[in-house]
Amino acid sequence: MTTEIQIYGRGRMPPRLEQRLSDHFTLHCDAAPAPSGDWFARHGDQIRGMTNASAAPLTGALMDRLPKLEIISGLGVGYDGIDVAAARARGIIVTHTPDVLNADVANYALLLLLAASRDLLFQDAYARSGRWARDGQAPLTSTLEGRSIGIVGLGRIGRTLAKKLEIFGGPILYHGRREQPEVPYEFCPDLCEMARRCTALILCLPGGAGTDRLIGTKVLDALGPEGILVNVARGSVVDQPALIAALEEGRLGRAALDVFEEEPAVPQTLCDSDRVILSPHAASATVETRTAMFDLTADNLIAHFRDGAPKTPVPECRDMIRR
Ligand code: NDP
Repeated sequence: MTTEIQIYGRGRMPPRLEQRLSDHFTLHCDAAPAPSGDWFARHGDQIRGMTNASAAPLTGALMDRLPKLEIISGLGVGYDGIDVAAARARGIIVTHTPDVLNADVANYALLLLLAASRDLLFQDAYARSGRWARDGQAPLTSTLEGRSIGIVGLGRIGRTLAKKLEIFGGPILYHGRREQPEVPYEFCPDLCEMARRCTALILCLPGGAGTDRLIGTKVLDALGPEGILVNVARGSVVDQPALIAALEEGRLGRAALDVFEEEPAVPQTLCDSDRVILSPHAASATVETRTAMFDLTADNLIAHFRDGAPKTPVPECRDMIRR
């Protein structure tokens, strides 16, 4: 390996990733989603690999400004922000960081579910504000024991979560584009029907055109005034205005949201609602999991330039790997 290989680090580069890449390559960092024309004029035709630590869309137009680009190493398992078809058309391999984050994202979904169902933020405020001493015990909440819980997207994270949900002893249902006969959970091809039967829906599916606003008024109404929506997937999967309306009108019980339509913006109505738990896209944000993600992002670039075999290409690019 030679440090003469030039890599473009797009977005705010985490120090560990920056260090790992600098150990192997010449790294050009730029926190802006698209560097200046000047930068492209100086470096564009030398860049052979890039990492994407930015949530801004990575388009074919940007790839065109990097004519020698061979590989985009995405930081994260979701790659809805990267135009993979455009990359493929230019012979560029896209990689991502699957599996290493399953446990922490699933744990976070569980945390959000429990916090929403037991109204943890209210309980915390109740104890802090002195209302406990003044008004006595806080109102009762509802149990999750034995309740039906639905997972939308039973993939790597969804299956990890399902296993953890078994502790509640209730039915676990899932919705996706196909049944998975090997799992011990009930497949529901009809999302509304599943929502109707469940106390909580947990979203674990990818963003992008195929899932855009999949969760709209019909699904939210089916989940109902006692229902809980947990989203650790992507903001685009939920019709956010429909969600806000359902919460405001009491047609949906609670929502616990780690992701939003226009991150990092969070609509004021959601901030003001006491039926919502908000989180700043933090489901994978532990030191241990992020370190594993940074390392896999770096390892994909290193493996590509060492022997043409990045470790975790996205499924659409698997056939592009030489060995
Ligand atoms: P996987 O690809 O392993 O699983 C995704 C699942 O979604 C698949 O089982 C798939 O099942 C299902 N799915 C895909 N398209 C649809 C559709 N149109 N309708 C219904 N189901 C669908 O991905 P991961 O589990 O590794 O990750 C899932 C997503 O979680 C990521 O793409 C990312 O967006 C999000 N994520 C969020 C994080 C956060 O910090 N909040 C952290 C990590 C991930 P089938 O093929 O049967 O339809």
